[in-house]
Amino acid sequence: MKTQQKIKSIYEKLLCLYGQQGWWPIITDKSGKSGKSSSKYLCEHGLNAPRNDSERFEICVGAILTQNTGWYPNVVNALINLKRLKAMDPKKILKLDDEKLKQAIRPAGYFNQKAKKLKEFCRFYMGLNGRNPSREALLNIWGIGPETADSMLLYAYDKPIFVVDAYTKRIFSRLGFFKEDAAYDEVQKLFMNAFKDQSCSDKKSLLGDEMNSDESRRQQWRTAKQGLAQGNCERVRNELTRKSLSVAQDIFSQKNGRLPPLLLPPSVKIDFQNVNELKTYIFKEYHALIVEHAKRHCKTNADCDVCLLKSKCEYV
Ligand code: SF4
Repeated sequence: MKTQQKIKSIYEKLLCLYGQQGWWPIITDKSGKSGKSSSKYLCEHGLNAPRNDSERFEICVGAILTQNTGWYPNVVNALINLKRLKAMDPKKILKLDDEKLKQAIRPAGYFNQKAKKLKEFCRFYMGLNGRNPSREALLNIWGIGPETADSMLLYAYDKPIFVVDAYTKRIFSRLGFFKEDAAYDEVQKLFMNAFKDQSCSDKKSLLGDEMNSDESRRQQWRTAKQGLAQGNCERVRNELTRKSLSVAQDIFSQKNGRLPPLLLPPSVKIDFQNVNELKTYIFKEYHALIVEHAKRHCKTNADCDVCLLKSKCEYV
């Protein structure tokens, strides 16, 4: 099998196993009008974000905060703190006292640097006046490297560009595609090339349609919604992805969860106008699926026994 076909086939396998990931997640406030004290923030996937400029900006902020740290619970808590301060807005972040900003984003780590990066980015973002940024311009901002710039372009601006992270390099170097210290651009090119001749007629397996028609997944979704008020999001997510519905229900019933529950999408609405939109969808899902596989099986100490890629892996 050619390299390009292998890259596609791994995507299809991961999608089939883990289902649509529905990135980028957005922090939503479900408190209604009943008052600040009852604010209940959820980290929601599958919203087809960004649906507006505010979500676009939030995605960019999240892309900076997630540098060198995990999304759950670190970045989620930092984003919630910014929302509690009503500061998820470039002007407001720029006006925020440095110490207050650092304290708000402290859960995401490296808060001195990240506060400075956020302010640099906010100045840039305001200068855009609603225009889309170029990759070059993003890379010229202090503290924005290729991974962060490409995350913004893909997830905030819906540009068909592949995001490479340490997980991508770990998994695909173990599978034998390149060395773990391969250059960012080299790895990105490999993935972009795999889908360069993509056509809209070949959608079914690339979109996870089989998953969408899976009644048990829809049932999981209904149960997840019922348990919104309680539960620890990471544990809930793990169990739902494993289809361990009864365990997920047990977690929902706990009342001491401090993290917002995570929503899995039953099916992301898919209606592509052209091949670039399709590629954007695939690159969003592929990157998210790689992160899922790295956290679940292809860890630093790989858990290869149950890995669906084992038969093709040079590492085993
Ligand atoms: S077989 Fe092991 S090393 Fe290879 S991809 Fe799977 S978990 Fe990673």
